[in-house]
Amino acid sequence: MVDHKAVRAILQTQLDELLARAQEIDGALCTPGSRDWEENAIESEDDEVLTSLSDTTRGEIAEVQLAIHLIDTGRYGKCTICHKAILPERLAAIPYANRCIDCA
Ligand SMILES: [Zn+2]
Repeated sequence: MVDHKAVRAILQTQLDELLARAQEIDGALCTPGSRDWEENAIESEDDEVLTSLSDTTRGEIAEVQLAIHLIDTGRYGKCTICHKAILPERLAAIPYANRCIDCA
């Protein structure tokens, strides 16, 4: 049996970290480039990395928020596709997993 309160606390911490990271990335992206064009070219390459990182972070934020919502509504630990129980080993590895191995 999974301790939902403990998992929720872990997820909340994870969410806070992700939100802080997303804010940092957004801050870095908004910094206006004030250097010459050569450095600006390098800078936009960095921005692309930051943008994809930001997308990943945003995706993770959505997954973690969904997991917290599932805990609050008593549906945590069940696959959102086939509604079968997700293996505890899988939840231990990925606390915000909302799909079973078959549906992932
Ligand atoms: Zn499933």
